[in-house]
Amino acid sequence: MQTMNRELHQSKQFLMEHDHFLVVSHVQPDGDAVSSTLAVGWLLSCLGKNYVMVNEGPIPKRMGYLWQADQIHDLSVNPLDRKFEHVICVDCADFKRVGKTKDWFEEGAKLLNIDHHPTNDAFGTVNLVVPDAAATAEILYDFVTYMGLELNKEVATALYTGLLTDTGGFRYSSTSPKVMEIASRLLEYGVDGPALSELLLEQMTLPQLRLLTRALNGLQLSEDGLIAWVSVSDEDLQATGASHEDMEGIVNYPRNIQGVETGLLFKVIDEQAVKVSMRSAGKVDVALVAKHFGGGGHVRAAGARIEGTLDTIVPQVLEQVRLQL
Ligand code: AMP
Ligand code: MN
Ligand code: MN
Repeated sequence: MQTMNRELHQSKQFLMEHDHFLVVSHVQPDGDAVSSTLAVGWLLSCLGKNYVMVNEGPIPKRMGYLWQADQIHDLSVNPLDRKFEHVICVDCADFKRVGKTKDWFEEGAKLLNIDHHPTNDAFGTVNLVVPDAAATAEILYDFVTYMGLELNKEVATALYTGLLTDTGGFRYSSTSPKVMEIASRLLEYGVDGPALSELLLEQMTLPQLRLLTRALNGLQLSEDGLIAWVSVSDEDLQATGASHEDMEGIVNYPRNIQGVETGLLFKVIDEQAVKVSMRSAGKVDVALVAKHFGGGGHVRAAGARIEGTLDTIVPQVLEQVRLQL
């Protein structure tokens, strides 16, 4: 806890001593990445600081209800006309995760790295990294409290969104008593918990359901039934009208099969690369497998981008998973 206090202090100094921040999260941002970006933006606005929130690509449409979600620049459409000397990275396990946003970092830029991945390599000038936290939003709740700021419904909704999505609806093993305590406090600010669960965890678009059906049609299982996997290509997206964000959640299906220890989703990015998402029932540390391929994540949920084609990558990943079974 003392280490955490030192990191909180250093992070506070970072904000107080500088101005004109760039706030970035990881490529293909999830609920925690978007919410954490907005929570940092809110914090900076409370301090009267200038800031720009960005991502390499678009923010999932589903998250449009979040306060100032439309203020996060999609750099693939709206490039900025200046670079930044002070950058705040949220929910990024390593520097690579910031993607093309790095083109807007001044050379030698100072970074504040706020994250909860155990594989985080402390790439920041200041690192507020708490591997025990269920979400970056949990760390930001502590940070806002440490800064002595009073939350409002808008930022509480963002923080709740981060907690809700990264814990799979308060179900994963990361759902600590502290997470429930924070969620309870956030609800006191008027957050509509059931509506967020419905929107973010229950509802599917028709193309998303069609994509899921198509992916499950190609489900494969190892002979011993311990590993299950599916793959999705651009062809599948085109045939169903689904988008990249519609792939989220598919990986849970192979993992949910009784007896399966590791579920995998292979997303073909292009002819040169595949993104693999991994989920573990507990036995296999998928963060280790991801790390082996240059990615990262958590013990039970991790990912990596691997150069190559499905034919070569699938057997390599299966082999690495098998080493731990
Ligand atoms: P995903 O499979 O994309 O839902 O990601 C599962 C977890 O692994 C999340 O916590 C991600 O932030 C993390 N992760 C995914 N891809 C990578 C990567 N290429 N490098 C580091 N961490 C990753
Ligand atoms: Mn994330
Ligand atoms: Mn996260």
